[in-house]
Amino acid sequence: MTGNHRQPEVNIGLVGHVDHGKTTLVQALSGEWTDQHSEEMKRGISIRLGYADATFRRCPGMDEPECYTVDEECDNGEESEPVRTVSFVDAPGHETLMATMLSGASMMDGAVLIVAANEPVPQAQTAEHLMALDIIGIENIVIAQNKVDLVDGETARNNYEQIQEFVEGTVAEDAPVVPISAQQEVNMDLLMQAIEEAIPTPERDPDADARMQVARSFDINRPGTTFEDLMGGVLGGSLVEGRLEKGDEIELQPGRRIEEGGQAEYHEIRTTVRSLQAGGDIVDEVGPGGLLGVGTGLDPSLTKGDALAGQVAGPPGSLPPTWNSFTMDVELLDRLVGSVNQGSAGGSSGQGPLDNGEEIEEISTGEPLMLTVGTSTTVGAVTSAREDEAEVNLKRPVCAEVGAKIAINRRVGTRWRLIGVGTLTE
Ligand code: GDP
Ligand code: MG
Repeated sequence: MTGNHRQPEVNIGLVGHVDHGKTTLVQALSGEWTDQHSEEMKRGISIRLGYADATFRRCPGMDEPECYTVDEECDNGEESEPVRTVSFVDAPGHETLMATMLSGASMMDGAVLIVAANEPVPQAQTAEHLMALDIIGIENIVIAQNKVDLVDGETARNNYEQIQEFVEGTVAEDAPVVPISAQQEVNMDLLMQAIEEAIPTPERDPDADARMQVARSFDINRPGTTFEDLMGGVLGGSLVEGRLEKGDEIELQPGRRIEEGGQAEYHEIRTTVRSLQAGGDIVDEVGPGGLLGVGTGLDPSLTKGDALAGQVAGPPGSLPPTWNSFTMDVELLDRLVGSVNQGSAGGSSGQGPLDNGEEIEEISTGEPLMLTVGTSTTVGAVTSAREDEAEVNLKRPVCAEVGAKIAINRRVGTRWRLIGVGTLTE
């Protein structure tokens, strides 16, 4: 079965309201990927990263869209040919995990927005996630109108019109809308065709320094593992540029927190790449795109429990600056998006429909903000706020380029709400 799993070259986010079918769709598209490998590291990473790879394939001698499949054997008996392997990032739909969705969004080259055909449009997270895609600038979007098996033709058409109305004027305005049933695996070929057309693999500079966004980190050793058998710490995330090879030296920024005389400081971490996992295989070298796992020489206690999530890795000396405070240009939304009472709303779908959100007030000096920069989420205290600009002191530093996009969240009631986007200026 090896050879069937090529390295993924593009990351596609699955976003949308809870229960609309994100996980079911990922399973439908990656279901063939069941030949489990026994190695501890592989299992650890695929389970804990919350992602799955799928290889889109084409059947020779068949027309579009029927030629698209994820199966190796075609309906006409021929063997299918791989077109492209994609990594799906299954963003959680639950509102408290919006920060996770935002940090996942920094690794997405495109997104599939799932909208259930049997509920009014938009539900709260449908609106919130689309807003996040808009803010972060993810323009390559396919809309999957799911659960069409549950509705009649007229309801499906009405729902389709509601979707069109809802995306008007947003980044998803021209996105194709594909009616599907993820559960019944209906129109998967049409969906694959739409993804192939609307979410191309981004062009990347093959000579750039490696730059990895770390989304997860863990200790894959079973309790009681003896010292000789202990495996080094593992990093999970995405290589957004460059290549990584087994044996490469890497640096992680901001690195580890060190306390000296009541003062906390961060020091970069250096280590060696000991193993690489991509596309379900252990490989010697990886290129950009897709999600990957990196086995390192780090003490696993350093990587345990996502301790290094949000960091950036690359060749020593090549990383962007680490900031303890920065100034950002700020663009606020007009209104809060998503329903106000999501936490307490009951029902099987978890959360209620969209409320018309309250107006967003200017950022004020002294207020705490939750900022997502790359895969990192940190709280910042505003030390100075002007009309379109704010200076923040960060609780935990971040490693980022000048010009990096920042998702800005404010505490409203009991939860953090997305209020705008910032651009790191200095
Ligand atoms: P998620 O919260 O967006 O990840 O949603 P899930 O994938 O967990 O799906 C929620 C529920 O909807 C599950 O019970 C699925 O079996 C069901 N479901 C998902 N897709 C479909 C579909 O196309 N048709 C029907 N009838 N049910 C579906
Ligand atoms: Mg799910």
